[in-house]
Amino acid sequence: MKRDRNVKIVATLGPASDGEHMIRKLYEAGADVFRLNMSHGGHDEIRARHAAIRKVEREMGRPIAILADLQGPKLRCGVFAEDEGHVLRNGASFRFDLDPTPGTDKRVNLPHPEIFAALEPGSRLLVNDGKVRLRVDDCGPDFADCTVIAGGPVSNRKGVNVPDVVLPLAALSEKDRADLEFVCELGVDWLALSFVQRAADVHEARDLAKGRAAILSKIEKPAAVTAFEEILAASDGIMVARGDLGVELPVHAVPPIQKRLVRKCRSAAKPVIVATQMLESMIESPMPTRAEVSDVATALYEGADAVMLSAESAAGSYPVEAVQTMHNVALEVESDPNFHTIMAASRQVTRSSTADAIVAAAREIAETVDIKAICCFTQSGGTASLVARERPRVPILALTPVISVARRMCLTWGCQCYITGELTRFKGAVVSAARTARDGGYATEEDQIIVTAGVPFNVQGSTNILRVAPCAERLIYATDPE
Ligand code: PGA
Ligand code: MN
Repeated sequence: MKRDRNVKIVATLGPASDGEHMIRKLYEAGADVFRLNMSHGGHDEIRARHAAIRKVEREMGRPIAILADLQGPKLRCGVFAEDEGHVLRNGASFRFDLDPTPGTDKRVNLPHPEIFAALEPGSRLLVNDGKVRLRVDDCGPDFADCTVIAGGPVSNRKGVNVPDVVLPLAALSEKDRADLEFVCELGVDWLALSFVQRAADVHEARDLAKGRAAILSKIEKPAAVTAFEEILAASDGIMVARGDLGVELPVHAVPPIQKRLVRKCRSAAKPVIVATQMLESMIESPMPTRAEVSDVATALYEGADAVMLSAESAAGSYPVEAVQTMHNVALEVESDPNFHTIMAASRQVTRSSTADAIVAAAREIAETVDIKAICCFTQSGGTASLVARERPRVPILALTPVISVARRMCLTWGCQCYITGELTRFKGAVVSAARTARDGGYATEEDQIIVTAGVPFNVQGSTNILRVAPCAERLIYATDPE
């Protein structure tokens, strides 16, 4: 199944998109990566979703990436005596404490001693996605007495954000460690880490993953924005997690951060996902708002590798329509001549290797003569990422003998991933690339493609050949050296 689009679509699975039938429909509508949210759903549910994705993958004969999103140190309050909770009024007093007794309109349990240890008078506590705001007046090791600054409803286990302090929290809770081991054993391609605060958090997860999955850091804390350079260097990919970021920081601070992070990721040739509330109204409506469509388009013009659906695909009434909407926006934006001008103007690359120069040459050749695809043999995915950073105007066919690499690369801009057999000769590589381009519907016998590879084969980081090749096999055999 051919994709005529470069940007990738990540669809979160949930009750609205469960089962093989729905996963197939989402894939056919354009989802390239499925996200399993470890905050919801037990291991049996996750296992069933995983199996269904792999089944669809086999049927489609195309690699699909699975991203497991670890909950991380997400803070939540306890429960209330009355299930519906309470509406806190502006100016009222309210206490958080370590007492597990069900809460009232005067107090509730906050089962995180680390928070009390880090709070100071004047710190803010945000509840329920930042809708309810409280200021700490007085606090101790097991309580915080607050004044309600912005009132609203609080109820059982609502999320609590503490933006003003760096919390002395472990990056991975006990639950995260158990979930990490579970999904790595199951076989996922990406692990997303929530509430990363420092590069050490990423190293810790990488040590536990032991190469079984690539590591993606979610940027959703002010501390992560500050330490972004080190976090990016430690990670394989990034998510601009605008949901929690917009709670911890003022919402209007998010767009410039998004722009900066997307640029830095492209520059580092690491994939970046723009996430949360992209098509929020489509949870309930088959039509997005104009502003949402514009938001998706903006992420594309900024150079994001992927855009993500959260509740829209996990719990909404129109998951397939939401994927289709993103797909349609992508087709429109990517065919805008201005898009290519912007991609060229925003290319920030420091070239230092042979591979850097070869991928730049490949892009230039594709801009100069009629080339249908850049076919790139890649052992670790590294060369394909470098081609993607160039943002060429023609499809990138990422060819690899390693299935896990093909799956991971499903998140990277423009990469159409294919599994090849083990190769030993360059001529064989050209024949294989031409066949993939023809069979995939990217080129015909009359067309030309670019092939890049590293000889000898099967060595990482050795790209050293660029060939402009015909697609017709008899011509390859007639012209190519061994
Ligand atoms: P979440 O992360 O959906 O797991 O909260 C994304 C975000 O915060 O934007
Ligand atoms: Mn989040």
